[in-house]
Amino acid sequence: MTTPPPGSSRDELEALTLSLQDAGVALLVGTALDFAGVNRSKGVPVRRLASFHQTGAGASPSWVVFCIDNGIAFTSTIGVTGDLRLRLDASQVRQIDAGLAWGPTDYYNQDGTISSHCARGRLRAMIAAAEARGLTPLMGTELEFTLTTASGDRLPKTSWSAYGMKAVTAHRAFLVDLTDTLEKAGLEAEQIHAEYGTDQFEVSLAPASPVDMADTQVLARILIGIVAARHDMAASFSPLPWADGSGNGAHLHLSLDRDGTPLFAGGDGPHGITAEGGAAIGGILHALPELLGLYAGSVISAQRLKPGAWSGASACWGLENREAALRFLAATPGNPHGANVELKIVDPSANIYIAAAALLGSALHGIESELPLPREIVDNPADDPDHAKFALAFDQPTILDALEASTLAVQILGADIHEGVLAVRRHEQHTFDGVSPEDIAHAVRFAWS
Ligand code: GLU
Ligand code: MG
Repeated sequence: MTTPPPGSSRDELEALTLSLQDAGVALLVGTALDFAGVNRSKGVPVRRLASFHQTGAGASPSWVVFCIDNGIAFTSTIGVTGDLRLRLDASQVRQIDAGLAWGPTDYYNQDGTISSHCARGRLRAMIAAAEARGLTPLMGTELEFTLTTASGDRLPKTSWSAYGMKAVTAHRAFLVDLTDTLEKAGLEAEQIHAEYGTDQFEVSLAPASPVDMADTQVLARILIGIVAARHDMAASFSPLPWADGSGNGAHLHLSLDRDGTPLFAGGDGPHGITAEGGAAIGGILHALPELLGLYAGSVISAQRLKPGAWSGASACWGLENREAALRFLAATPGNPHGANVELKIVDPSANIYIAAAALLGSALHGIESELPLPREIVDNPADDPDHAKFALAFDQPTILDALEASTLAVQILGADIHEGVLAVRRHEQHTFDGVSPEDIAHAVRFAWS
């Protein structure tokens, strides 16, 4: 169940190559996320763009199961032999810095078929499955990160004020450069702001087709890293950079419409939710315990999911409820993108293509199964008399066991990706067994940078 990426004609590839060369680009880098959410890359001199797109650059199959500590989590289908082709999606290529261009890649087999380990291809297939049912999905993402010194320590102490102007003035050179760099790369940031946690910022990205959204988030991380380094800092995308600090989320927004009619507005349900929209919400929440390993499955993810941290640590939904895993945003004049749901529980250790496929796949499953809309939680879920019913287990062994047993995850991702994700996360589980939370936070602080 994979659909090929859009091809580019010979003329388009030639024109793109020439325009990049004219702009002084020397190196063209193609990237792909592994199953642990780490971005891996291969580069070519820009004159080889067409070949990077058409035949691809070679990569060992183990690329998809590299781990956050660079261990390799071999699976029943990934060993030391074989070769994959990383093929550049030329439609997304753009210059991102002096002399440097970037584009996302897909994993192909040498025979020209797309690999069953290609997460980006799997997300495309999930979009095609939605479209086959007459549904169009849009997704947006909010990417949080924490600035550190260039050597990875906390920045010198200032009196941080959450969402404060003081944070902006203190870091204005970085923020202006970041805004300019994102704009020049054609990346549609909706907001750039200081977050709650000390030295924490957020870039929110405009809604787009899910693969475009995921590509954009990958590029945003690269650019945030480049700009941070230009200002003698580094950026951590760890779900919890310091064990006693604030967590970084990578929230995913989803809207669905059928022939231009939204599923989350204009209906008879609460806040205008339609029956299909309610079933989609039911599907996402019903599958949350078994898919949590795809959203927040790293060795440090559970440490972020504390009540009161606005990380959505309860398997429930509610209008503008920031403690619910699924925050509902109604269609109002104050919400120009229309009604949508925000899965807050996702963190930046997730492979965003896999997380997006899981979110969309579970919504579709809810629609197909005509699941009911669960009861809305209108206040803090921790204070609800039924809280025990939607409290989630977060610890890595438990969520990996649930993921392992999930037939829905296999249906959404295919057996090879399912097995691969479990292998890299089990590697983390065993590697860090018995290590203190502080030492884990330190060890993985820049794993996803
Ligand atoms: N930093 C919070 C998290 O871990 C989210 C804060 C917010 O934007 O609501 O997801
Ligand atoms: Mg935020």
